[in-house]
Amino acid sequence: MMRHPNMKMAIVEKENALAMHQTMHNSGVVHAGIYYTPGSMKAKLCVEGLKLSYEYFCKNNIPHKKVGKLIVAQNPAQVKRIDDLFDRGTKNNVPDLQIVEKDCISKYEPKCQGEKALWSPWTGIVDWAVVCRAFANDFQRMGGEIFLNFEVTGFAETTESRGQSQLAPISVQSKNRCIPTRYVLTCAGLHSDRLAAMTGCDPSPRIVPFRGEYLLLNDSKKHLCTTNVYPVPDPRFPFLGVHFTPRINGDIWLGPNAVLAFAREGYSWFHINLRDCIEMAKFPGLYKLCWRYFVPGCKEVLKSIFYPLAVRDLQKFIPEVSYRDVKRGPAGVRAQALDKTGKLVDDFVFDGGTGKIGSRVVHCRNAPSPAATSSMAIAKFIADKLEKDFKF
Ligand SMILES: Cc1cc2nc3c(=O)[nH]c(=O)nc-3n(C[C@H](O)[C@H](O)[C@H](O)COP(=O)(O)OP(=O)(O)OC[C@H]3O[C@@H](n4cnc5c(N)ncnc54)[C@H](O)[C@@H]3O)c2cc1C
Repeated sequence: MMRHPNMKMAIVEKENALAMHQTMHNSGVVHAGIYYTPGSMKAKLCVEGLKLSYEYFCKNNIPHKKVGKLIVAQNPAQVKRIDDLFDRGTKNNVPDLQIVEKDCISKYEPKCQGEKALWSPWTGIVDWAVVCRAFANDFQRMGGEIFLNFEVTGFAETTESRGQSQLAPISVQSKNRCIPTRYVLTCAGLHSDRLAAMTGCDPSPRIVPFRGEYLLLNDSKKHLCTTNVYPVPDPRFPFLGVHFTPRINGDIWLGPNAVLAFAREGYSWFHINLRDCIEMAKFPGLYKLCWRYFVPGCKEVLKSIFYPLAVRDLQKFIPEVSYRDVKRGPAGVRAQALDKTGKLVDDFVFDGGTGKIGSRVVHCRNAPSPAATSSMAIAKFIADKLEKDFKF
């Protein structure tokens, strides 16, 4: 809309408010772009998104803090990976990264210990749901419409008799309403494969929900954590590992772990959705994934049930944290994209399809972390793609 002020645009959302899923249930970190494969979309869009996000927060008075981040190695193999991460981050143009030797770690986080660390002063914290609402206000101010409680159930071609087929050849349908449109951009997170299938596009990559559960540090121990403290990520796994994250409201979150959820929006073990479970059970890729990660997966489940076991991992970084200092906290569910062979899709995926409806659609199919940080850069990327594909 910023580029084409006369264009009419609308957002449809199935919930009664925006940002109810991944955008609200996440770590709230503004990532600097260290981990991602140089040249990948994640690397480029995260570093660009970081700068655009801070500019936007300042311009719109959105509470945020550049608390920095310490990635801490605990053994010789991880020490070597700290150097690799430094090289990778430098290649990705992450600003002001510094290697921190063992004796200096406490200068950055007084109670933290480790063998070596990487310091990223530009990493920050923000409430991404607040950012999303600010985006929504901008969108409405520029004339955009937002339809809440509008669950998309299908897409159809509009008929000639309605006289709409030239201008708005697609009908976006929900239970009791439909909206005619010329083009569609889907960004449905945990349901992105289903939305793609509804437009006649390839349902692959499929989405498998992985819950990330957090623990909350008690008030009496909040002083132990002033910055983000992360482990060195294990390159075999897609997630960054359980970390200490200060929140913008002063809380300290410890997590998230990664366990298979029994519902796409399954925020606890007790939340089970039969349709989601049946779909997962029918997807051979998931069996391959479970087999590949069987041992670490079982350990994650154990730590999820007996959370003092998870605290033992955290004590390697800040030994003063005991299991008595934490309680169970909130959880988020990651929309993890899997290809047909069960391989985790790492990079962002934006694609379209063919056919009368598919050729007028762009799908945001895989937007995992750091997609919140990258959101403004993703928006620019997608706007370019829409202009090119649809010749605006
Ligand atoms: C545990 C966790 C921690 C994370 N930590 C970070 C972090 O620290 N920093 C960071 O940058 N990123 C982080 N992320 C990633 C980030 O949260 C996501 O990349 C981002 O929120 C994705 O936004 P989205 O709009 O694609 O998805 P979502 O926020 O999930 O939005 C999708 C929307 O589509 C709607 N929808 C779905 N189906 C339909 C339908 N049929 N009709 C209408 N509406 C529909 C849903 O209701 C939902 O509101 C984290 C994610 C998780 C889960």
